[in-house]
Amino acid sequence: MSVERAAFITLHACPLAAPGQGKSGGMNVYVRQLAAALGEMGMKIDIFTREHLDVVNRVETIGPNVRVIHLKAGEPDAHLGDLYALLPDFLEQLNDFREEEGLEYDVVHSHYWLSAWVGRELSQAINVPHVVTFHTLSLIKMQSRAGEIEQTERPVVEAEVMATAGRIIAFSPHERDAMARLYGADARKVSLVPCGVDLEVFRPLNQKSVRSRLGLNGEKILLYVGRVEPIKGLDLLVETAAQMDSAEGVRMMVVGADVNGDREMDRVKQLAKERDMEDKIDFVGQVDHDDLALYYNAADVCVVPSYYESFGLVALESMACGTPVVATRVGGLSTIIQHGRTGYLKSWRCPEAFANSVEMIISSDGLQQSMGEAARKRAEGMGWDNVASLMWDEYSVLTEHPAKDDNKY
Ligand code: UDP
Repeated sequence: MSVERAAFITLHACPLAAPGQGKSGGMNVYVRQLAAALGEMGMKIDIFTREHLDVVNRVETIGPNVRVIHLKAGEPDAHLGDLYALLPDFLEQLNDFREEEGLEYDVVHSHYWLSAWVGRELSQAINVPHVVTFHTLSLIKMQSRAGEIEQTERPVVEAEVMATAGRIIAFSPHERDAMARLYGADARKVSLVPCGVDLEVFRPLNQKSVRSRLGLNGEKILLYVGRVEPIKGLDLLVETAAQMDSAEGVRMMVVGADVNGDREMDRVKQLAKERDMEDKIDFVGQVDHDDLALYYNAADVCVVPSYYESFGLVALESMACGTPVVATRVGGLSTIIQHGRTGYLKSWRCPEAFANSVEMIISSDGLQQSMGEAARKRAEGMGWDNVASLMWDEYSVLTEHPAKDDNKY
């Protein structure tokens, strides 16, 4: 059976929400771009998400063959922690919509544990395979940073869905191993399909002209891009600059908004003050996704100091723009970045080591350029069309050769 129509479930991450603020980030980008690329290739995709405060149209077509459908379940501004109780409502709304429109899907692909619960129920009800991408996993997250607290239901649902899904998508070998080790997942059901990057939007531009567009002078720029929250480890960026032999002529830019009021932003600002770095750091706030290429191109190095990153789209976007990355060796980052070739991976969140790597790059135009070229080359193999082809193959294998055991869905 060929795959013609897929249902994507992304209950809390609407692909229309602007990334880099609130809870909107890499997952929103991933769902939108993957669906768009599959849609361009001819697959019909319905993306089901929960109605939220910014909804304009309940059903919105966002590209060839791709629709976003907002379903009402609970109050539009319900807190993430309250969504678990709303899952049966969401499922009911989804089934009503499907029946009203007489829709039949060949595969269900769900994103994140909440949606995975819905995806499992839906796939079993309509008897089609269930593919799941967890994006982040609670047990890895809790191990990565003390203080991360997750809902008690989350690891239970994650383990249950891993046991029943037809296919689990992992972004890196690290994530696949953790699924087997921490959740007892059958590694044979786990496929490695990376995230992708839009190679047209994220491409090398003339650094001099983008800097003048952004009103920057000749300082060396260390860039951070992402939501501002503790797990992103922004303190390490400040400590890195403080540990450099000379922070003279260096500027840090932080692009992205705080997830929780200004709590983490204030903490980072306070640290910058204590390290005498407050004049060296600009908090730019959220930037439109399509304008980010200007910032990556203006930067000399992109720093990704996260405690945990299941993939780390920001690193790949930076590389696609030809800007080397210095990052912690966690999760998907160690798959994307080639240490010593496209940037540096640091095993420990150690400011001296980060500072040393950043200084190596910014003190040598030759190294910066050759790493930038290698980075772009590496990213070129990870365009969304390549990723979508891999994903289409995953769907096809499942629908054409369903497993013989009871766990096929
Ligand atoms: N992003 C954006 N504008 C901002 C900050 C971030 O569009 O101001 C986007 C960024 O381009 C990337 C995503 O948000 O695509 C962040 O993804 P990542 O996987 O790095 O982190 P996550 O948000 O998933 O934790």
